[in-house]
Amino acid sequence: MLYYSLSMITVDEALGKILSHIHPLGFEKVSILDALERVIAEDIYAQRNIPPLDNSAMDGYALRVEDIQNASQEHPIRLEVIEDLPAGVISKKKLEKGKAIRIMTGAPIPKGADTVVPVEETKQGDGFVLIFKATALDENIRKSGEDVKKGDRVISKGDAIRPAEVGMLASVGRSFVSVYQRPLVAILCTGDELVDVDGELDEVKIISSNSYTLAAQVKDCGAIPVQLGIAKDRKEEIEEKLYQGMRADVLISSAGVSVGDYDFVKDVMKNLGMEMVFWKVAMRPGQPLAFGTIGGKPVFGLPGNPVSSMISFEQFVRPSLQKMMGHRILFRPVIEAILKEEIKKLLGRRYFIRGAVSFEKGQSFVTTTGEQGSGILRSMVKANGLIVIPEDQERVRAGDKVKVQLLDRNF
Ligand code: AMP
Ligand code: MG
Repeated sequence: MLYYSLSMITVDEALGKILSHIHPLGFEKVSILDALERVIAEDIYAQRNIPPLDNSAMDGYALRVEDIQNASQEHPIRLEVIEDLPAGVISKKKLEKGKAIRIMTGAPIPKGADTVVPVEETKQGDGFVLIFKATALDENIRKSGEDVKKGDRVISKGDAIRPAEVGMLASVGRSFVSVYQRPLVAILCTGDELVDVDGELDEVKIISSNSYTLAAQVKDCGAIPVQLGIAKDRKEEIEEKLYQGMRADVLISSAGVSVGDYDFVKDVMKNLGMEMVFWKVAMRPGQPLAFGTIGGKPVFGLPGNPVSSMISFEQFVRPSLQKMMGHRILFRPVIEAILKEEIKKLLGRRYFIRGAVSFEKGQSFVTTTGEQGSGILRSMVKANGLIVIPEDQERVRAGDKVKVQLLDRNF
């Protein structure tokens, strides 16, 4: 059947095909704290200057530069103190020659004053102050609009919201903003041997860890997992469960996409109206990977082996979810590191090898995390990166530079 003879494509081709079927979702309004780690869907402009008025950067005395030009430790200048000004209060007075106003950090600069002498350079008396140091024009004054000017665009559509942006949104008076929606991602694990984590075990049963790793990966991207549970290797059951996921924005199945006698996932997806885009990618682990669309909705048939499943998600599903959520950056950061051991591989396939990256004397190094079988989940537990070895390489030597995708947020 032609349907099954779709030949193997490269990782880059697969990614290109997938992303061409993925489109950013619509928008929703959320509070600015809920906007954290989301992508903003509107340009944000400042409605007024920040700070609104010239104000003091120091606790000290607001006064006229002219009056203290010759102030020094030996010859302090004496000025009359006419007011005590806390932050948030505007002085009604105009500062005249020979006068000073005691001012707190953040308080608006009184009319007539053009410099602030920090309290450390003064000595207070009863109704007067001695100034021991001359400050320059505008010294210790934060000018109106020095942070943001009225009309400035402070955040642009497509920016990812971090704590600094949350604060900026608050600064410009926005409590709610428009952000890209988060996709619902339905996950179905298939296999007669699977039980859920609290299910009854016997010798042949294995716990469906993929149900949880995949849901965690979805959550980790900021999308919303819908755990459809486990389906036995029966077409009707797979179809029924997948059907329950049709409300989601993305469908993911795990296992049953190889050529085994019980690998029905592709058939079922076809029954549900899937247009197959490709099956099988020239990579390791993770070669059996089906991608298609049902009514435009992306469907990923991921391989069942725990490491293959995670790595396929990393390479294909994560960038897709990032794109749906409006992110400009779809991929993990990639660094160059010095490989500490030799790696041999097959030509014609891209390898993703679990690695532990370390930094020594300003240089990055990487080692493999041991046994690399696609069922060895511990190789992922120990990893903080994926070493990427290109298709055209057969061997990399210790000391060679390799590219590593960084998986952890913190290093
Ligand atoms: P399959 O793709 O169905 O041939 O499965 C490949 C391997 O992955 C088998 O050893 C399965 O037992 C294992 N496997 C499949 N699904 C899961 C799952 N949900 N959690 C953990 N291991 C799985
Ligand atoms: Mg199976």
